[in-house]
Amino acid sequence: MTKPMKQHLIDPEICIRCYTCEMTCPINAIEHNDDNVVVDPDICNMCMACIPVCPTGSIDEWRVVREPYSLEDQYGWDELPEQEEFPATASEAETSIEAMDEAMAALLADAHKGAGGRARAPVSASKPTVNLYTISKPVEATVQGNYRLTGDDADNDVRHIILDFGATSFPVLEGQSIGITAPGTDAGGKPHLPRLYSVSSPRDGERPNYNNLSLTVKREPHGVCSNYVCDLKAGDKVAVTGPFGSTFLMPNDPEAKLLMICTGTGSAPFRAFTMHRRRTNPGATGRMSLFFGARAPDSLPYFGPLKKVPESALAKNFAFSRVAGQPKTYVQDKLREQEEAVAELICDPATHVYICGLRGMEEGVEKALSNIAESTGTQWLALRDTMREEGRYHVETY
Ligand SMILES: Cc1cc2nc3c(=O)[nH]c(=O)nc-3n(C[C@H](O)[C@H](O)[C@H](O)COP(=O)(O)OP(=O)(O)OC[C@H]3O[C@@H](n4cnc5c(N)ncnc54)[C@H](O)[C@@H]3O)c2cc1C
Repeated sequence: MTKPMKQHLIDPEICIRCYTCEMTCPINAIEHNDDNVVVDPDICNMCMACIPVCPTGSIDEWRVVREPYSLEDQYGWDELPEQEEFPATASEAETSIEAMDEAMAALLADAHKGAGGRARAPVSASKPTVNLYTISKPVEATVQGNYRLTGDDADNDVRHIILDFGATSFPVLEGQSIGITAPGTDAGGKPHLPRLYSVSSPRDGERPNYNNLSLTVKREPHGVCSNYVCDLKAGDKVAVTGPFGSTFLMPNDPEAKLLMICTGTGSAPFRAFTMHRRRTNPGATGRMSLFFGARAPDSLPYFGPLKKVPESALAKNFAFSRVAGQPKTYVQDKLREQEEAVAELICDPATHVYICGLRGMEEGVEKALSNIAESTGTQWLALRDTMREEGRYHVETY
């Protein structure tokens, strides 16, 4: 029996036949006759470009179906059919495409919960494309390179992976993530769920104007997907979904100051931010400051290239917790060390704060920011609320 699939439809009762959706659809999946505006299920890739332009909301209709409604069916409707009920088995429902796409959305929402359920994009950020490729319709990327970024320590193998999309459009913005699904099935025989990875290159490609992007991936002991990705070789093909994420984005405003705080692979989006600004606006007046924690210099991804970025472009503060003969230092210690500069930054309405990396870092970082704010007489919770409301406080931890 055919597995249920999601179908995009238009509500004929509400649609005012303005055809804006049809004009907006980048792949001509929408058409009309004298009666109705309809979506061709064989063409629609659910890119969502048509959703925000519809003045009535009639475009935002979906049905889960075993056989998609044909164009002929849709032209004949005066109203949308009810959602059919499926006697789906439990295992089918769990492994359905829908469930997997929802799992990705839930993962991202969980990663952003440090924004207090009020994650907002910076006002001046570009509009991201999201969910262009789904589990049912992933895009195939080709691995262009896989380079180790860290020393020989077996416990800390972090890789720089470059994926090429050939002639297929895969538009990403700095701060977005993509989904990768390891081939094969889990112990219960179900396909693996995809994992999310932050894009570490800017929107115009790892190499300017190439249709490629990079990832920064840490091999997790026994981890299904990270081992698959870290073992990829040049020429291998990978099924990619996404892009995902519409709030953890970079402001385009050249006066925006960026305070970026990360550990480990949390540096991925900040590499993208730094490269984007340096490529497109090297004279930007807004400063970028990085606080980056790792065990030691050789376990800090991109340590060499980062050192070459001039301080005038990026103020760098590295915290190392395992260097022989030196006291253990964490990012929050570095923030406290730079108390005056950090206080000035967080109290400045032009500053955007970004925290990214291991979930465990959040508490210590917030405490340090709170102490620093309070030391200037500023109430931290009120300040953080204002920053969240204004799309200037961003958290992505996993
Ligand atoms: C928004 C977002 C962005 C992300 N960005 C990045 C990124 O840029 N780079 C990055 O590296 N990661 C990133 N992640 C994390 C990534 O999505 C994965 O969670 C990570 O790679 C681990 O996936 P895995 O399949 O390898 O591990 P899983 O198989 O899911 O295992 C999870 C954990 O369980 C442990 N484990 C699994 N099986 C066993 C076993 N048999 N015995 C003992 N322990 C076991 C593993 O060590 C691992 O720590 C991001 C996550 C989110 C939500």
